[in-house]
Amino acid sequence: NSEEAPTQVSHAVRILQEKFGYRGFRGNQQDIINHLIDGKDAVVLMPTGAGKSLCYQIPALVRPGSGVVISPLIALMQDQVQALQGLGIRAACLNSSMTWEQIQDTENAWSRGYIDLLYIAPERLLTTRALNLLKKVPISLFAIDEAHCVSQWGHDFRPEYLGLNELARLWPTVPRVALTATATLETRQDIADRLAFNQAKYFVSSFDRPNIRYEVVEKDNVRTQLMHFISENHHGESGIVYCLTRKKCEVIAEFLNKQGIKALAYHAGLDAQTRAKHQQQFLYEDDLVMVATIAFGMGINKPDVRFVAHVDMPKSIEGYYQETGRAGRDGLPATAWMAFGLQDVLQHRKMIESSNAEEVFKQRAREQLQAMLSYCESSLCRRVALLAYFGQSSHACGNCDSCDRPMSTWNATIAAQKILSTIYWLYRRYEQRFGAKYIIDILLGKHTDRIDEFAHYKLSTFGIGKEYDEATWQSIMLQLMAQGYLNVDIEGYSTLTLTPKSVPVLKGQESVFMIQAPSNTSQKSRNIMP
Ligand code: ADP
Ligand code: ZN
Repeated sequence: NSEEAPTQVSHAVRILQEKFGYRGFRGNQQDIINHLIDGKDAVVLMPTGAGKSLCYQIPALVRPGSGVVISPLIALMQDQVQALQGLGIRAACLNSSMTWEQIQDTENAWSRGYIDLLYIAPERLLTTRALNLLKKVPISLFAIDEAHCVSQWGHDFRPEYLGLNELARLWPTVPRVALTATATLETRQDIADRLAFNQAKYFVSSFDRPNIRYEVVEKDNVRTQLMHFISENHHGESGIVYCLTRKKCEVIAEFLNKQGIKALAYHAGLDAQTRAKHQQQFLYEDDLVMVATIAFGMGINKPDVRFVAHVDMPKSIEGYYQETGRAGRDGLPATAWMAFGLQDVLQHRKMIESSNAEEVFKQRAREQLQAMLSYCESSLCRRVALLAYFGQSSHACGNCDSCDRPMSTWNATIAAQKILSTIYWLYRRYEQRFGAKYIIDILLGKHTDRIDEFAHYKLSTFGIGKEYDEATWQSIMLQLMAQGYLNVDIEGYSTLTLTPKSVPVLKGQESVFMIQAPSNTSQKSRNIMP
């Protein structure tokens, strides 16, 4: 049998063992590598940490010629190149952080065939200078890393990726491989189309990260919640806390430090030197918490990140999954923790509506946000919900908050009717727009200036929601949004509106069930229906 095996395949195993020092291939690495060695195109979808790099590094070394790796981030390239050089592999990069001499040296080495793997950013690759340079030696393969950046539907679109379809025209016989850890069905299709792949084979790995435990909580006092989460589960360990804004990164990092949890901030507002310093500290210290915007993380290969916490709800499940995937790359237990709240949804909606994107993208962003919110509010196993989003079916995992406490649902129809009918009455009679807080004030029977001015204490729903506090009403509203009974309509204000789905609930023809029953669920019914 071994006699039949193509020598190039055994060559691949030899490189794996002798150069990289690993005993065997993982998952479908071997199939992918064989396919590329055969000179065919491939799209590789693998979760972060599963081992994408070897899939192109080894065939690039096995095939005659030099390999070209297109990668969007300088930091990532430099790490990879350093690691490869450490293994005695002739790798180099070309990027804007290099001096003119360094660039010339690298170009000369390339032209003489002294480089086996060249890392380059897409915008540089597409310059005439770089294209002419590449033509000087035979190319073994093109690897397009973070390939989801080519998709306008994804969460990290980079227009310069679109130009990479040129490679097909200029090097029609050189195999290309596109790799990504982001893989909704639409993104997948988009990658092959936009990069002009011809009959590429798709290699889809399981997206499950069984060692990551998922937990989602509703915000109450998020700083305290975070502090408890860290000190009870991950004290003295390394972790990442994602925040939506730079300011919040600063505030939370300072807070954690005061609580005795070593933390640093990382965001695009810091100068390059500070960012690099913080990143280095994070990589080399094992008890540091990085409080960051999503600017941090792509390409950070730190295996022992024990937790990723989101203190604001991310805007899409793709982004969320990618970020949580940075935890536990060593395969040991890790936690993905998230706190979310009504304000997050409103803030994201504001960002979407106020952007100058075309309507089709806005609509898409709204759908992604809705999916994210539904995930938060779901009583399903978190893993089942996440994997389903990526087209993979699975079973309840026993390693998430939903599995821990099979949540009882409660019949929230009356509470829902109180909210929906308040909104219905406000809209019927008034031109003005009213947000969540206003509606809750009405239910709680508060005489605020505005309520008094509009005489909204006369509404039939005024004061009929005193059985719950404000936080509970917010939570109920969130679940109504998650289930599609309420919509946020933003035109400068965050206005809640009814949806077609809310009509049967208002008419008493349909019940609404929710998770996490409030402590007081005895509800007195009143005739408030329109
Ligand atoms: P990805 O790019 O998919 O996030 P990497 O290629 O950086 O993942 O690989 C993640 C880690 O797994 C790295 O430390 C890498 O050395 C290791 N790894 C990859 N393939 C193997 C293998 N076949 N055997 C052992 N370790 C591997
Ligand atoms: Zn589960």
